[in-house]
Amino acid sequence: MMHPDNAFKIIDSIEGTAALEEVPIIEAAGRVLPNPVFSTLASPPFSKAAMDGYALQKSDPSGSFTVLETIAAGDVPSRAVEKGTCSKIMTGAMVPEGADKIVRVEFTSEENGRMKVVTPEPYDNIIRKGENLAAGEPVLTPRILKPQDIGVLASMGIPSVEAAKPPLVGIITTGSELVNPGNPLKPGQIYNSNGYQICSQTARVNCPWKYYGVVEDNQEALSAAFSQAISECDFVLLSGGVSMGEFDFVPGIIRDGGAEILFHKLAIKPGKPTLFARKGSSCIFGLPGNPVSTFVIFEVLVKPSLLKWMGLSWKSEYFQAVLSESIIRRDGDRVEYRPVQVEGHSIVPFPYHGSAHLNALSRANGIIRIEQGILKLEKGTAVDVRPI
Ligand code: AMP
Ligand code: MG
Repeated sequence: MMHPDNAFKIIDSIEGTAALEEVPIIEAAGRVLPNPVFSTLASPPFSKAAMDGYALQKSDPSGSFTVLETIAAGDVPSRAVEKGTCSKIMTGAMVPEGADKIVRVEFTSEENGRMKVVTPEPYDNIIRKGENLAAGEPVLTPRILKPQDIGVLASMGIPSVEAAKPPLVGIITTGSELVNPGNPLKPGQIYNSNGYQICSQTARVNCPWKYYGVVEDNQEALSAAFSQAISECDFVLLSGGVSMGEFDFVPGIIRDGGAEILFHKLAIKPGKPTLFARKGSSCIFGLPGNPVSTFVIFEVLVKPSLLKWMGLSWKSEYFQAVLSESIIRRDGDRVEYRPVQVEGHSIVPFPYHGSAHLNALSRANGIIRIEQGILKLEKGTAVDVRPI
């Protein structure tokens, strides 16, 4: 069994394959930015007032000032401020020549075109040209674009951005026992939940998917579905049929389909039977059928693979939380990714019966990693939680 950290290294070696496409910024949130963006403008592009007030000279000892003009946001000042004078100025307006301080309006009084400072103003209240960003500075590193990044792009006057064209993900669920929701269950059958769950996880990474449906545990049928999917898609995700059972045909049909298997079986819990293969630039995952395994392996292996294929070396973010009760394991032969429920800063008691316990997963909002050999995590321990 391969250690999952070695599997992560194999995933890390996936080359960025995605084409770039120009996406209007209004549609770009959630998309992968594989290359850095440099600022095209200084920010702000001119020195501007941070407050409504009066622009004057800091060193001017005058007790009262002649008001030269009113400068609104968007105006270009027409007069330079000199000793004994000031200009009324609005937040966001260009600071007139000669002025180096804005006295807040609430600290002043104005009568007959003359302004008096009634309360001393301790601050300059000017956002100076280029103070936030100089032109040509790297402003966005490669990332999944967030709404605030879209704001940054817009603030520089950039209307569209080069995002990675996401891979098309083909999804095949295997199992003769599976029935889709909306149909009655016969004895021995269960509902197919993985198909819907994997499509939704794929959509959450902003990749388009094509669902090839449930394929029964039959070598010919599976082989046909796999050849079609691999000819049409950049990624193929199969669920079920990847272990050692008599009807587990997935490893065989992947090999016979001309793909190279890079790992099969990991020292990971859940998800031990996981398989990863490549065919040309395409990636193939054989995910275990148990729904919690499928979900967790998608999170820890498939998601970083999709992003790496799009040119982004993505690492999850973590937050810390404290165990409100001890976690005890029967054996420590595998690295475990265990779903947990976090409330505030605590990991609260959580009934979890293992990889088939799907409704526990929907209560969980994080997963924690327990290293090989660790049998007990004491109550009160702070652990790293990966949000899900
Ligand atoms: P397998 O990996 O095919 O041996 O399946 C392991 C377990 O997961 C079995 O109990 C299957 O019935 C169940 N399972 C497999 N595929 C799905 C699916 N698409 N939806 C829900 N459960 C599944
Ligand atoms: Mg099966």
